[in-house]
Amino acid sequence: MSFIHLQNLTKTYSNAGSPAVNHIDLSIEKGEIITLLGPSGCGKTTTLRMIAGFEQPSNGSIRIDDKVVFDDRSYLPPEKRGIGMVFQDYALFPHLTIEKNVTFGLNKWGTLNKKKRAKEVLELVGLADYAKRFPNELSGGQQQRVALARALAPRPHVVLMDEPFSNLDAGLRERMRYDVTAILRKANTTAIIVTHDQKDAFAVSDRVVVMNQGVIQQIASPRDMYRCP
Ligand code: ADP
Ligand code: ADP
Repeated sequence: MSFIHLQNLTKTYSNAGSPAVNHIDLSIEKGEIITLLGPSGCGKTTTLRMIAGFEQPSNGSIRIDDKVVFDDRSYLPPEKRGIGMVFQDYALFPHLTIEKNVTFGLNKWGTLNKKKRAKEVLELVGLADYAKRFPNELSGGQQQRVALARALAPRPHVVLMDEPFSNLDAGLRERMRYDVTAILRKANTTAIIVTHDQKDAFAVSDRVVVMNQGVIQQIASPRDMYRCP
């Protein structure tokens, strides 16, 4: 059985005629990194937000790690879904140190455990020496790695990333594709990444899910996609 399963997932916004996401089915294996790729407005963010629990589907079901988090009878709120989210603008708290940013979601952990976990994830993203700094003292790429460390800190089932590379300039972008993939692999986590950039998708994912106008057009590994005419 797959680790994450979307079945017949549909979202029609109340003020819209046609569905933003239209009956999509998708199975994701544990440890897989997949990207949702497609042009602006094709339904990538809506799909991600439904998985996260920020948006109510109109129809269908979502299962994560054996648990139904949404169907016609059940709805699990975002904080109970075991999801780590990395936002496009990183959404770090400017008045908190990097360490405090990273432990923000660990409110039920004891102080010692929080510190230990912060050290672990900051080491994982290569920022162990930055614990006491503030976000504005870090570069864009470093801030993104902090955002990823914060998402990984509570040991989520899955990490969701919305356009993680779009705020980075070309040189850094290439580097971060490599870094983010390496960090996700090391953390052994499952990840769903939204992007409109084919290069991003091909560089980071095990499988690329191509969306257009709310439907899935194709699902394939980057290798198999290169073979297509
Ligand atoms: P993408 O992430 O691929 O750019 P979105 O999921 O953001 O696509 O949007 C899919 C469609 O749904 C678009 O037509 C968009 O205008 C519409 N849409 C997105 N969010 C809302 C909303 N909150 N209310 C109404 N329509 C929305
Ligand atoms: P992205 O760049 O990730 O695709 P968007 O810029 O499309 O995101 O959307 C940003 C925010 O605006 C989201 O919260 C989305 O739900 C909302 N939104 C997008 N399209 C519409 C729309 N047509 N009507 C209302 N809200 C929208």
